[in-house]
Amino acid sequence: MSYVFSPPAQPTVEVFGSEGRIPVRRIFCVGRNYAAHAREMGKDPDRDPPFFFTKPADAVVASGQTIPYPPETGNLHHEAELVAVIGTGGRDIAEADSLSHVWGYAIGNDLTRRDLQLTARDKGRPWDWGKAFDRSAVIGPVRPASVVGHPEKGFIRLTVNGETKQDADLAELIWSAPEIISILSRSMELRPGDLIMTGTPAGVGPLVEGDTCVVSIAGLGDIETTIGPRL
Ligand code: MN
Repeated sequence: MSYVFSPPAQPTVEVFGSEGRIPVRRIFCVGRNYAAHAREMGKDPDRDPPFFFTKPADAVVASGQTIPYPPETGNLHHEAELVAVIGTGGRDIAEADSLSHVWGYAIGNDLTRRDLQLTARDKGRPWDWGKAFDRSAVIGPVRPASVVGHPEKGFIRLTVNGETKQDADLAELIWSAPEIISILSRSMELRPGDLIMTGTPAGVGPLVEGDTCVVSIAGLGDIETTIGPRL
């Protein structure tokens, strides 16, 4: 057997303070997981089961990169998020056992073409064009749970050019990481290298060329992204 063209490189993310890398398998994202953000998107927060969308693994971008302003949008938005990294796979994972499947945590920025997402949402179409575009998943260095534990509270903040835009606490998550992992694993068998972006708090807004966006989470440091010229 031989490939008719070279297979793509395995997307990876850095492990903080290590030469090791996390091979990224899939990126799951939770929608509307902070009440104030659900309200700013024109929806009532509720305890309906969480819903998910995905991004391709090769949408990952490291901290410190300049990302070209993406095509086909006039409303690129930032979304600060806690990211859980699955290290041990499983299906039908019990909530009480969920955290034993987490290798570590990172800071993420769920970049969103908001105009395309809202058009899709309102027309009942898939969200992919708004959410799953090239370079849409900024993921910072992963910190092992053996070092940082399992963050359940503490600040999650985002600034644009030094001005605070999102400022909330991880304790405000509607669905916690253990709940999300348990629920997700009923629908999909989780595998090592699956990333889960757990949702963004209120204060999402636009990024334009020249902006520098910094996301910080208590105990996890910060990540930085600069927006370059339109492709
Ligand atoms: Mn998001």
